[in-house]
Parts: sequence; C-alpha cells; structure tokens
Amino acid sequence: MRPDARRAGPSLAFDLERHFRDGPVVRAALEVPLDAEPVTVLFGPSGSGKTTVLRCLAGLDRPERGFIRFRDETWFDAATRGFVPPQRRGVGLLFQEYALFPHLSVAANIGFGLARAPRAERNARVLEVARFLRIEELLDRRPARISGGQRQRVALARSLAPRPRLLLLDEPLSALDGPTREELRGELRSLLEHSGIPSLVVTHDRVEALALGDRLAVLAEGSVRQVGPVHEVFSAPADLVVARVVGTENVAPASIVSRDAGLALVRVGTAQLLALDPGGLHDEAFACIRAEEVVLETAPGTPTSARNELTAEVRTVSPEGPLVRVTLDCGFRLVTLVTRRSADRLALAPGSRAVALVKASAIRLVPRAS
Ligand code: ADP
Ligand code: MG
Repeated sequence: MRPDARRAGPSLAFDLERHFRDGPVVRAALEVPLDAEPVTVLFGPSGSGKTTVLRCLAGLDRPERGFIRFRDETWFDAATRGFVPPQRRGVGLLFQEYALFPHLSVAANIGFGLARAPRAERNARVLEVARFLRIEELLDRRPARISGGQRQRVALARSLAPRPRLLLLDEPLSALDGPTREELRGELRSLLEHSGIPSLVVTHDRVEALALGDRLAVLAEGSVRQVGPVHEVFSAPADLVVARVVGTENVAPASIVSRDAGLALVRVGTAQLLALDPGGLHDEAFACIRAEEVVLETAPGTPTSARNELTAEVRTVSPEGPLVRVTLDCGFRLVTLVTRRSADRLALAPGSRAVALVKASAIRLVPRAS
C-alpha cells in the first residue's frame, strides 16, 4: 500500500524496507496525519516488524530502502543517503519495557532528555510533566520502588519532557498485569489526547488497539495491508490476512447461492446465511463473523431483526475472563462469545441445543481470489 501523497495536512509519511541479514525483510508504508486524529495504531502480530518500524522512525535503526518524511523534513532517504540523527528528529519513544534507569530517581529519569537545559528550567519542566501525569509524589523514588503502572507513567513522562513533535509507543501496556492494564488503557488514551502530540502506538492487542486508536494500520505478512478508522478495519477486514490478524474468530468458506437487493444468500457448511452483499462477489467467498456479534438463545422465540436464526448444538464451553467462549455446530463451526451470566442462564453445556442469531450486517463477506 502506498501512502496517499495527496493528503493536504502535515503528515509523517514513510515507505521503508529493513533487511535483516539471515532474517526477514520488514516492509511498511504508511501516512500518519499530524493534524487530525491524535492516535494512529500500528497493529500486527508478534514478529510482523512493528518494533523495527518504530526504531527506524526514531532513527535508532536504518532501513535499506525507502524514505521517511516528517512534515517538510526528510528524515531518511535511501536514494540520497539522507539520514537525520535521532536527537534532531524530536521524537519521543516509549519502549516496550520502559527501560528506566534503575540507579536514577524518577525525577532524573524524567529529566534525562533535558540534560542540556539549565537546571531551573529542567526542574520546572520535570515538575510540569509529573503533574500532568499525576506522579509528582514519586519524584524522589527509584524505579524499583514504584508500581508497574507508575513506571509506565514515568516512562511516558520521560518521553514527553523534551516536548517531542511525535510520540512513538511500543506496546505501551504489555508490561503491565491484567487489572493495571485495564485501568491504564482508558487513561493512556486520554493522556495521549491531552498531550496534544500526535502518536503512533504499536500493539498486537486488539482491545488495546480499539481502546487507544483513532486510525488503525494493519501490518502483516510483510506490508501494511489496511488503513482506516479503527472500528472500520475491525468490522470490515479488507482481506483474509487482515481478518485473521484482527481476530475475526469465524472465517469460513462460503459459496454464493443468490444475490438480491443488496443481500447475498451464501452456503456455509450445510447452513445458509443472508449477508450484506459487498459487491465483487463471484462464486466463492469467506464469511467472517466476529464471535461477539452472535446472540444465543435456547429456542426460536419472538421475531427479531436478526436475519439468520441457526439451530445449533453446543460443542465446547470455555470461560475466558468475564466472557465464555462457546463453540457451536450449526452446519458449520461457529465460535461465539457470551457473558458468563448468559452462559449460565442458557445452561450451555456440550451437547445442549441453542439457537444462534446473526444479523446479515454482522457477516462480512470477503471475496475469495480465484
Ligand atoms: P514485532 O515488534 O512486530 O514483534 P520486530 O520488529 O521485533 O517485530 O521483528 C520483526 C522481524 O524481524 C522478526 O522476525 C524478528 O526476528 C526480526 N528481527 C528484528 N530485529 C532483528 C535483528 N536485529 N536481526 C535480525 N532479525 C531481526
Ligand atoms: Mg515488538
């Protein structure tokens, strides 16, 4: 995918290739608007090259091919061998493991990027950033003496202190335990928004991507495959690779039976489903259904707006945090996610009967390349 060179506002635009000796080639091309949505998420599975891309953008690593442009500056250009060193890019980088200096106080960690500023100015800025992140009472402590969530905030403070023009965050929540992560997820979003600094956040966590991002770019199998508003990419993956990466649990082969008035009737296994017709369908497609989009009932009941009512047999029931993953056989294998309460109320157990309700609009048909 090529960055859209015709975008009007200021942007970070790159199209780069990093070749590792005896290793993979990481390729990524993207344009990140700097004046519109504050947070762009670069989403991809482990090993897809996310950290490599961030390191190249920060100037800590050098691509073999391509370019990196920020506003009207060229940070990197393989053709002209142009390379702007990291300290002149004005980028704040938050490492995955935060990389705080253990022997320095929180204040000294936050002020690390301000070493050349006069002491009074540095202290004032450290205090200002610490207040913004509500960690001013921690300034004298060492990183080992504060919690994981607090460490994350100190690391964020350190990257914000030099007033960067762009923030790069590598899996900012992955070092935290479950409850802390949940708590900080929403908070991080609002901090990023209020910082006023455009951010590129890297993650392989779907919930994190949904919670933090305005725009989502999916990096998989060697390239950026889809870019768009977060919800749009999640609910309408452009191809099978994106569908898998964004975690659409159900991706089943479907054959087109008929099409009429914007709807397509497709056969999936032995079941028939009505789905929105995305256009471009030939005989074969993949039907993608997100597990959360399926509603379960014990028996066919009052009419609903769901166009698909599938009788099913429960195969497996496995708790997953606050939810329960239920695998059904309804003529094809259908994975669903319901709350524990619903699972209890419906007395779901292997072998029990259920009815799965799926709206036509919840079934995404991806044309299958012949
Ligand atoms: P991600 O952050 O998405 O998990 P990385 O950017 O860390 O992915 O790595 C992308 C790919 O490049 C991986 O296959 C990884 O093994 C490889 N890689 C990363 N750094 C190096 C390196 N210094 N030398 C060789 N291979 C590397
Ligand atoms: Mg990484």
